[in-house]
Amino acid sequence: MQIRLMLLSCIFVIYSSIVCNSQENPCGTSHTDQRKMLELQAKLPELNHYQEGGLIQVPIQVHMLLTDEGNGIYNLLHLDEALCTLNKDFEQTGFQFYMEQNINYIRSSKWNDHENFRDGIEMMKVNNFPDVVNCYIVSNPAGNCGYFAWDGDAVALSKSCLGGGSHTWAHELGHYFSLPHTFYGWEGISYSGKTPTSEYQSRVWTQIENVNRVNCKDQADGYCDTPPDYISSRWSCDENKQSSYFLKDIDSVSFQVDGSLFMSYSNDRCMNRFTADQSEAMQKFLNFNRSRLLRTNIFPMYMESLDKTVMTPLDSSVVADQNVTFSWPKIEGAEGYIFQLARNSAFTITVKFISLNTNQITIDNLVSGRNYYWRVKPFNKYDFCYKVSDTRFFQYSTISSVSINQNANSNITIYPNPAFNSNEVLIQSELDEITKVILINQLGQKIRTISEKVHENLILLKTQDLQKGIYFVTIETNHKIFTKKLLIK
Ligand SMILES: [Zn+2]
Repeated sequence: MQIRLMLLSCIFVIYSSIVCNSQENPCGTSHTDQRKMLELQAKLPELNHYQEGGLIQVPIQVHMLLTDEGNGIYNLLHLDEALCTLNKDFEQTGFQFYMEQNINYIRSSKWNDHENFRDGIEMMKVNNFPDVVNCYIVSNPAGNCGYFAWDGDAVALSKSCLGGGSHTWAHELGHYFSLPHTFYGWEGISYSGKTPTSEYQSRVWTQIENVNRVNCKDQADGYCDTPPDYISSRWSCDENKQSSYFLKDIDSVSFQVDGSLFMSYSNDRCMNRFTADQSEAMQKFLNFNRSRLLRTNIFPMYMESLDKTVMTPLDSSVVADQNVTFSWPKIEGAEGYIFQLARNSAFTITVKFISLNTNQITIDNLVSGRNYYWRVKPFNKYDFCYKVSDTRFFQYSTISSVSINQNANSNITIYPNPAFNSNEVLIQSELDEITKVILINQLGQKIRTISEKVHENLILLKTQDLQKGIYFVTIETNHKIFTKKLLIK
């Protein structure tokens, strides 16, 4: 099985993601490339089995560009948010993207920060994987939020423009599957209501589209269900997702531009759709021009919720073990887990940020007296929208007084451990009164709570009815809460 990402034992640097930087041009897909795609699209036969709403699984390959030194990794949680948004944006088109192979990390400062398309296209030609949608996540795609390059047969996306609230990825893959801008022809030309629109005809690249829909197939982007659009720079919409001002077409008919379309240049908060004609065109292009992307027998796996399950260390507990083992239930369908441990609840002071293929991790370098926050996100190659678990908090506090014992573990004894399920297990505290013992299984489910004591610092745990396996024993004393592992053989 392909596992999406396995950079084990690496601590990831947080790269904060913000929605499209206003300094960057929204899209660098050239007019020439859009025209090529339009010409190809026009030659395609009708698609007789087009079905709106049917889902086709399309393999996507993420290439993550780093500097020569290996810096600049994009936050994996943000990457999942971006992929989740991409799939939501494409839901109505019948496309869903999945990661057939691991993220491909490429160290190259020159490609990561490429100021011209030539270097970007070189990056694509050298690194493209066969028969997948190749997407390059870079720090600077030639001054744009993203672009599709015909010669590189791939898209490049800016790290600063990706994220949960951004539709840049959907826009660029719209180009990849042959869609031009809704304002196609106006690239680089600034519309002004002061100039009669007919005067622009000699300057734009195609026939200007009118509100009256005669010949709409030969005008602008060629789709009759995308209304006229002359705005080729980033713009904000009103509450109806329309331009806040009126434009005039060649016949002097007033109209507002529809900002709900991903292929326009409206702000991210305006965009929410491809039209039916655009969706059909993309499906045609997939089936006839990019049929090497088609797969059979792909069955996406979506994961169950991790909400409200018990994860250890328990939330709001005090942990004193020298080595702290973090553990959470196995999620069916997960190929791995992103584990994040930080000093603050905003997770900006990272202690550990790692991708694991097991549902637990032990960490031994925590600092006594500090608060820690942690959370987990399962992943697989289909389900990017899986939520990160609620944040858990604990205080790490070893007993520092040498007069007690240097070893914080010696306070609490579980004996025998491992135990056979014919045994009874004694849980003893040397110093404190035990108030309660909670037994938790590997799925994080509470098995039982024992508060009946043999005496104030000794509790008896009957194990006859326990199945073999690993359990977590949470021991509450009158001072602290400890969690320890118990193995039943
Ligand atoms: Zn574009």
